[in-house]
Amino acid sequence: MLKEAFNTGKTKMAKFRAEQLESLGQFLQDNSKQLHDALDGDLGKSAFESDMSEIILCQNEVDLALKNLQTWMKDESVSTNFLTKFSSAFIRKEPFGLVLIIAPWNYPLNLMIMPLVGAIAAGNCVVLKPSEMSKNTEKVLAELLPQYLDQSCFAVVLGGPEETGQLLKHKFDYIFFTGSPRVGKIVMAAAAKHLTPITLELGGKNPCYVDDNCDPQTVANRVAWFRYFNAGQTCVAPDYVLCSQEMQERLVPALQNAITRFYGDNPQTSPNLGRIINQKHFERLQGLLGCGRVAIGGQSDEGERYIAPTVLVDVQETEPVMQEEIFGPILPLVTVRNLDEAIEFINRREKPLALYAYSNNVEVIKQVLARTSSGSFCGNDGFMHMTLSSLPFGGVGSSGMGRYHGKFSFDTFSNQRACLLSCSGMEKLNDLRYPPYSPRRQQL
Ligand code: NAD
Repeated sequence: MLKEAFNTGKTKMAKFRAEQLESLGQFLQDNSKQLHDALDGDLGKSAFESDMSEIILCQNEVDLALKNLQTWMKDESVSTNFLTKFSSAFIRKEPFGLVLIIAPWNYPLNLMIMPLVGAIAAGNCVVLKPSEMSKNTEKVLAELLPQYLDQSCFAVVLGGPEETGQLLKHKFDYIFFTGSPRVGKIVMAAAAKHLTPITLELGGKNPCYVDDNCDPQTVANRVAWFRYFNAGQTCVAPDYVLCSQEMQERLVPALQNAITRFYGDNPQTSPNLGRIINQKHFERLQGLLGCGRVAIGGQSDEGERYIAPTVLVDVQETEPVMQEEIFGPILPLVTVRNLDEAIEFINRREKPLALYAYSNNVEVIKQVLARTSSGSFCGNDGFMHMTLSSLPFGGVGSSGMGRYHGKFSFDTFSNQRACLLSCSGMEKLNDLRYPPYSPRRQQL
């Protein structure tokens, strides 16, 4: 049915796209309370974190798309050559058709709505598949979002791995997946059956190098905020710190200071610290608490799926906490002797989604940037680069492929059609390219 709606051409109209985007913005405004409650119910997310990382980011994305829609949709003129001098060459941004967007549970609103904005702006019909793990947000998306969108063009489909597997058997014109590298491979294999183009927004372990030439308290504030935001369940959170033994000793009291300032003496009672999404992840994280030596935190409460903001020191590269993406409020510190060893450590592993480096010496930051690779890089800060719609967001290697946010989303969901319109006259000129070639070649 959605394909039929696409074939009518209605989603291609600028007016239709703008109306749907406005309506999407209205959905965010009208249901702010339901969305806050759902995010709190799923992840114990504070209103501030829900606003900052989900609702306001989505609203900004809608506003940006509405402001720029006409410009983004315009054909892009390009230069011609000698043989096409009297023709017009341009790139037409046309929609792919029917798009499937699959989202994870950790930012269940943001990671559904942000790509949806790009897909609508580019003129596609969309099937949305939220995560079954963030049940409260899934319910709001399934029950309320369709009331705001043209239901012949946009649909929410519910379910877990099995239902998603069924969905993936269908032929979509584009698939946008956010989730784990493991499921990313399943999605890519399913897309390959139909040669469907895809974006994969995946995860991994994001390194954070801390140079000796730093103010430990400033670094600790920034690292702790980004590590414990959303209870550490953030794809771009710093996963582990690489620093010297000396810096480790200076960082631990500074991290303790930051944690106490952010979450109080007993973080379990803090309204600002989230909870682990489900029992399975809670148990997985508890298993990681035995690595290295607990320097801060380490407590947990199964009834609340609470894990204290934790710092592990003297962690070895071979321990379980260094084998998988942590995705929880645990920060291992791994010691290295110097910058070269840190860079070598990073480059021995899969390319991360994000890479962080802290130093008062800009040359050190530049070296880390120049000698490593990652989807994104942030010097002397945490994931603030994600808040800029002027930067493309995405991974590289096992952390993903493709980019989105702002204009990059519009381009991702558009087929960049190469067009050349020649004039029907001036046929004499074409004699230059027609056979017989021999006399012509002598003139070239
Ligand atoms: P996941 O891969 O388990 O699930 C993501 C989606 O895939 C869900 O909608 C789920 O229903 C579906 N799914 C699960 N198993 C499936 C299967 N076998 N076949 C088909 N579909 C299936 O990921 P998650 O646990 O929801 O999210 C955590 C992961 O997502 C982490 O690795 C994290 O780094 C990554 N992530 C990446 C980004 C990014 O922007 N790059 C953002 C958030 C999370």
